[in-house]
Amino acid sequence: LRTVTITGPRTVDIIDVPEPQGRGDIVKVKILVTPTCTEWGSYRNGMSPDPLGHEAAGVVVDPGTSTFREGERVVVMPGYGCGHCYSCLEGEHIRCTAQRDALTETGSTSGRSTYAQYMLKPASLLLRVPDDISLTHASLACCALGPTLNAFETLRIDVFDTLVISGCGPVGLGGLIHAAVRGTSSICLEPDPQRSPLAMALGANAVVDPTDPQARDRLLEFTAGQGVSAAIETSGSPTAPHFLETVLQSRGRLAILAWGAPVDLRNVVPAGLELHGCWHWNHLRYGRRMFETIRRSAPLLDQFVTHSFPLDEVAEAWDVQLSKTCGKVLLFPWGLDADGLQPTRTREGAAPASARAGITRGAA
Ligand SMILES: [Zn+2]
Ligand SMILES: [Zn+2]
Repeated sequence: LRTVTITGPRTVDIIDVPEPQGRGDIVKVKILVTPTCTEWGSYRNGMSPDPLGHEAAGVVVDPGTSTFREGERVVVMPGYGCGHCYSCLEGEHIRCTAQRDALTETGSTSGRSTYAQYMLKPASLLLRVPDDISLTHASLACCALGPTLNAFETLRIDVFDTLVISGCGPVGLGGLIHAAVRGTSSICLEPDPQRSPLAMALGANAVVDPTDPQARDRLLEFTAGQGVSAAIETSGSPTAPHFLETVLQSRGRLAILAWGAPVDLRNVVPAGLELHGCWHWNHLRYGRRMFETIRRSAPLLDQFVTHSFPLDEVAEAWDVQLSKTCGKVLLFPWGLDADGLQPTRTREGAAPASARAGITRGAA
């Protein structure tokens, strides 16, 4: 199979390695879509991580002892959670501290990277894709739409909220998809003007530059001076958390999605803020809502995905990400027209599009 290896700063090789083999409940998946995430950082630094990548959608090749069937279309969840511990039983596989070793268990030498034509995954970390959803859209059920689905559910964000999304990278933009589906007014904070047009196209009511001295006033203007009711921080900027608490109403809700920077908050107790750390999403609890969100936002998702490349052009994909002039960037290990990407049936009696552009309302 063909897979990607980073050989130095901004240099990659596409190499051939032996195909992995499934065993027991570890399923062999043919990867048709590889959404790119933060691997551009490794590409820039020239260090190949192991595994490379964690987002993928594809087709079951060898279901092993699982209940999947050969040819079923699936989305892959990150990691190798044990499936038995407290976190895994709650659907929080991402927090499992007893990760499985899929290579040793199957006797394979490859199969953990998503930047490849095949991979291995325990059946409990695969989600069946509904027949009427394309695999390209379904592939967004990881970091594109997952962390913000978690935030929307955890903060209980709905049509009555005014939301601030800090950061217009792919994670923040995913939040705009949920806001559109749920009818939530949303304002983005983003200092890079190149990123504003896509945020506006995906339904942001405004994009405000957080480095503008008038930023706080501009945000308060949108809420008649009341402040916003919910905020999602995706930027990783060290100044973002404190800025957000200055624009939240009392008892406002704040979700931190970014990793790395210390979280500087000074008003949680006086303002009675509700604070949550949101990482990945819980596919046992929210699978139906995820696919319903994807179903209803299909036209917006086509705008959210700004670039698609065959796997061989992975360097171009990462260069686009480094330029920040993109939404979600997808790779296609078997080409852009591979069998299995398209829906296998259309939905009967699809509901008419709502007044709001790009959103389809329909029965859940
Ligand atoms: Zn576990
Ligand atoms: Zn990711």
